Amino acid sequence: MDEKNRLLELRKLLKQYSYEYYTLDKPTIPDSEYDMLFRELEQLEEKYPELDDPNSPTKRVGYEILSEFQKVTHERPMLSLGDVFSYDELRQWSKKITDVYGQVEYCVEYKIDGLAMSLIYEDGLFKQAVTRGDGLVGEDVTSNVKTIQTIPMAIPYKQRYDIRGEVYMPKSSFNRVNRERLANNEEEFANPRNAAAGSIRQLDSRICASRGLDGFWYHVPNDVNSDTHYGSLQYAKKLGFVVNDHTKLFNDIEDVINYIEEASQIRNDLAYEIDGMVIKVNSYELQENIGYTSRIPKWAIAYKFPAEEVSTVVEDIFITVGRTGKCTPNAKLKPVKIAGTTVSFATLHNEDNIKDKDIRIGDQVIVRKAGDIIPEVVRSIKEKRDKDLERFIFPDKCPVCGGKLYRFEDEAAHFCINSECKARLVYSIAHFCERNAMNIDGLGEKRVEAFLNANLLNSFEDIYKLHNRKDEILNLEKFGEKSFNNLIEAIENSKKNSLERLIYGLGIRQVGEKAAKVLAAHFKTMDNFINATFDDLSSIKDVGPITAEYIKDFFNEDSNIEMINQLKIFGLNMDYIDTSVASDSIFKDKTVVLTGTLQNYSRNDATKLLEDLGANVSSSVSKKTDYVIYGTEAGSKLEKANQLGVTTLSEEEFEKLL
Ligand code: NAD
Repeated sequence: MDEKNRLLELRKLLKQYSYEYYTLDKPTIPDSEYDMLFRELEQLEEKYPELDDPNSPTKRVGYEILSEFQKVTHERPMLSLGDVFSYDELRQWSKKITDVYGQVEYCVEYKIDGLAMSLIYEDGLFKQAVTRGDGLVGEDVTSNVKTIQTIPMAIPYKQRYDIRGEVYMPKSSFNRVNRERLANNEEEFANPRNAAAGSIRQLDSRICASRGLDGFWYHVPNDVNSDTHYGSLQYAKKLGFVVNDHTKLFNDIEDVINYIEEASQIRNDLAYEIDGMVIKVNSYELQENIGYTSRIPKWAIAYKFPAEEVSTVVEDIFITVGRTGKCTPNAKLKPVKIAGTTVSFATLHNEDNIKDKDIRIGDQVIVRKAGDIIPEVVRSIKEKRDKDLERFIFPDKCPVCGGKLYRFEDEAAHFCINSECKARLVYSIAHFCERNAMNIDGLGEKRVEAFLNANLLNSFEDIYKLHNRKDEILNLEKFGEKSFNNLIEAIENSKKNSLERLIYGLGIRQVGEKAAKVLAAHFKTMDNFINATFDDLSSIKDVGPITAEYIKDFFNEDSNIEMINQLKIFGLNMDYIDTSVASDSIFKDKTVVLTGTLQNYSRNDATKLLEDLGANVSSSVSKKTDYVIYGTEAGSKLEKANQLGVTTLSEEEFEKLL
């Protein structure tokens, strides 16, 4: 297809996607893909000005209103925002302004992922709420917006007041609403933005009220109460509107970028979704000088975070068996970049999830990867299924040992219960050796599997006999004298570990790292732990009856008691070593932030070490931070610490204090 036809095709495509997104609240492609197509269209339109069309999606806001709500013409248009996807683009945007106006002040705000709303007040009373619509004409959704508890129904201000902002669905409401929809056999909402938009367009406001929406308010057009955007927000706050607390002023675009970095670190911990940051020139006078296009103000820009959702194809579905025998279905994906990393696999959780979302091999799907979370398939795009694909049938046999799979009552997962199953053994032993368990470097999953195949390992106890198998180990591929010595040293060192590492390493169901620590601190010795009654266990905070039951089941197995006895004979420490209480470390009860690359510790090790000393390790620097420990290539966090006067420690200084 030639470029001109592509341009026309893009206009058609983007209109269709906008209709699905704005009118149906059911997008069929991820936002990141829409943004890419939009960019492509912008570039082609620049190249072929003769094909100019005022109706092009690049010239228009939102989508024409087709709903049954009454139409309302905005007194001042509600525009969209231009966007950038990299810091360099943001620098260029800022440079264009500073080249003309010199240094300017920026107001930087979270870009709330909801839907834009205008609230109109007259004589101090709430009169009307109107959606953005196509920017010129919106929908009157007053009765629904009235159900949002934090919106004032009266304000101490008598003139007409038009305040704009975002109505959004908090993450907690989104999860609850989707759980309810699933239970009622209704289709889940794709994301909180669509859920909020769908709720606001309910004809029965009781439904909207039940959805738990909220709002942030960020713009008062033509505000006569201030000369600056920030001042106008402070005024709105006084009138009773919720203004986001993370709104900040900066004079330098590099400081803006540091602030964006900080926000991107904590965004997954927020109670609501943000999809970027909005940078606005603060002075009203300058805003008017810089001006507008038909679609966007030129004095503001949205920096969009790297996409966390993209679409790709499920090439296969396969099952992995975990150390408890739990079988998890996974999707093999056509490799795709998400938030900077290439993703080829994603979890499908369990059989019900595959059925509910109707995910089939060959489907186009939306995959999400947020923060450190394992990528997951959010949904299949059924609209794009152009041929008959077979439904996935969960296997009834273990893919590793061929044993029968069981699905117990009230369990979503299938289990292989064959205790001899090699998959279970490999994972159990590798888990036992994990960094946060017994910390035996050199016995990861692949190595354990090779040792298992060579009959060197069949149980936890065998690990402590490996020093007698030197010749056989040296015969294995890629295993030299040095690796052998390192491995034996790591095994020896593991004998001195505090009890919680051993408890965690045993892999008792539901006993994670945190529970293991609580149990070790409570019972002090392995014998006390083994002899604890169900009541002793279930009464401990963070343990509870289900975990207590699993612990009792574990020690009711004679073979497990025998295994512990063997480990005692091999000299493993069976006592809790209380570092945090004994510690008079200067890090006790202090908030510490790590940044940059440390030479002698991984981030995980340093965090653990500090936590053992009683510190609270945080990911962002604020006035409340006590210490920032920095390694090489430390960036914005170190700078921020210096600005705030927080004590900073190099790795060397940190080690001295240890
Ligand atoms: P936008 O979401 O990129 O940015 C503008 C909007 O940001 C404003 O209208 C406002 O509602 C919101 N906003 C949030 N916080 C703000 C703040 N602090 N200050 C100012 N505004 C703030 O633009 P848009 O016009 O609402 O929507 C376009 C975007 O919607 C596209 O970039 C795409 O990501 C998405 N979209 C997706 C599809 C799809 O099919 N997936 C279709 C159409 C549009």
